[in-house]
Amino acid sequence: MFSVSLDLPEFEVVKQVFLEDCILLHVEKNSMEERCPFCGFSSSNVHDWRTRKVRDLSVLGKPLFLFVRVNRYRCHNCNEVFSQTFESISPQKHQTNRYREFLYHMCNGSTIQEVSRKEKVLYTTVINGDKIPNNSGLKFPKNNR
Ligand SMILES: [Zn+2]
Repeated sequence: MFSVSLDLPEFEVVKQVFLEDCILLHVEKNSMEERCPFCGFSSSNVHDWRTRKVRDLSVLGKPLFLFVRVNRYRCHNCNEVFSQTFESISPQKHQTNRYREFLYHMCNGSTIQEVSRKEKVLYTTVINGDKIPNNSGLKFPKNNR
């Protein structure tokens, strides 16, 4: 069976779904241990989890969506609850960092409206790119509608 190479080593693909107009991949982080951001202790005590839908680079001309399992842990040491973090997806974001970079580069040489239309993403997704990628210092033009 055909399989999508995700090329994001932190994730394991647990399920792939090929639809007419997009590809869905259910992924989980490889590591079951997470470091508590409050006290620094490692925890593998999963408290609960949720799924975040994340847009990634297109594959075979189809938009790729990741259904990312995001575990929440309860720290043994300080009892705080915290979420898993990912190298390739910033906290709260619904696009992978590489997809956000890709949108940024597409904006060089075409208009935001064109990028929005070609990639079938919301205008505001492109515009909000002024935080993309998080640590590269790249800046987007401000929304001047
Ligand atoms: Zn802690």
